[in-house]
Amino acid sequence: MKPAILGGIPIRNKPLPYAKQYIDDEDCLAVNEVLKSSFLTTGPKVKEFEEEIANYVGAKYAVAFSNGTAALHGACYAAGVDAGDEVITTPITFAASSNCALYMGGVPVFADIDPETFNIDPKAIEKAITNKTKAIIPVDFTGQVVDIDGIKDVVEDRDIIIIEDGAHSLGSKYKGTRVGGQADMTMFSFHPVKTITTGEGGIITTNNKEYYTKLINFRSHGITRDIEQFKNKDGGGWYYEQLDLGFNYRMTDFQAALGISQMKKLDWFTQRRKEIVERYNEAFKDIDGIILQKNASFSDTVNHLYVIKLDLAKLKVDRKAIYNALIAEKIGAHVHYIPVYWHPYYQELGYKKGLCPKAEELYEAMLTVPLFPAMSDEDVEDVIKGFEKIISYYRV
Ligand SMILES: *Cc1c(COP(=O)(O)O)cnc(C)c1O
Repeated sequence: MKPAILGGIPIRNKPLPYAKQYIDDEDCLAVNEVLKSSFLTTGPKVKEFEEEIANYVGAKYAVAFSNGTAALHGACYAAGVDAGDEVITTPITFAASSNCALYMGGVPVFADIDPETFNIDPKAIEKAITNKTKAIIPVDFTGQVVDIDGIKDVVEDRDIIIIEDGAHSLGSKYKGTRVGGQADMTMFSFHPVKTITTGEGGIITTNNKEYYTKLINFRSHGITRDIEQFKNKDGGGWYYEQLDLGFNYRMTDFQAALGISQMKKLDWFTQRRKEIVERYNEAFKDIDGIILQKNASFSDTVNHLYVIKLDLAKLKVDRKAIYNALIAEKIGAHVHYIPVYWHPYYQELGYKKGLCPKAEELYEAMLTVPLFPAMSDEDVEDVIKGFEKIISYYRV
């Protein structure tokens, strides 16, 4: 059944998605150039892209992957996550943040969120740490940076590796410094909805040479061509060695070229996102029935997503009815995220609903509002009008 339009007249005629990539002629030219060059993969562009990202975020090393999920898998491998090791993360994330622990035989442990910032709460991490904890994967949800110093304090001098899931936070700043050099490893994703895109793509940044070497090998079958690492030093010019079991998780050169070209626009993307968010904040703070995500003082966000919480006590209906009404207005609302352990796969592994009550309460009330750099001012006003119309209609 098609959701009913309140009052019969929709606010928009054309659907507005919640997110959309921005690709211009310059991007197309950059990709084209590589397509006509000698290297489609394992050529010079990947290295150039890695150096660009490493410089941009202020990390020594960067290793590009075929996607962000593969990059997280690589990070768990480099961290040495092994069978039975516990890996702590937030339930309010994409499943990849915890699946990567499962790939290594590890056990995801979900720690609850701060109900105001929506990010993982260092106090909940502290409670979840055991002598089996090998790694923590905090997620910069919506682009808002997690309290990395707070998490480091909780870890103290235990041998626990922090892998920051920065899929949302390329360009965000923590205490004035860009995300990417604070944790042991940081992952960024270049999926089309993320802040910049390579189609599919991901990267790990790190300051640790040992992790860097492991990531490079893992990305390409566990094979090295570096004589320093060889067990047998007298091979010929063709010689290479497989040292461990890795995967083919390489990024192509034309994807890297797209990434390099997209990086030129990141500051503009960020500026435009900020303008839109400022307008949203101004409008939404006056709509009784909407609660805004709190901005932590240490975080300067790149605004990957704009997520609001409905004040359900003030509404006659649940989140689904509000969502359906927005979709009927052709406003592409969405929900980020279903608590990971609610998925049937995790339920079958034995995770029980009720594990993280604050995350679950947030989930029932949250909506993602359209936000992407190419939105026009008119689109932004349509979204605001849509929320005003729907919330006032359903307010108790
Ligand atoms: C997108 C995303 C990932 C995975 O990245 P892909 O490039 O899509 O594999 C991981 N974590 C979070 C929080 C994400 O949003």
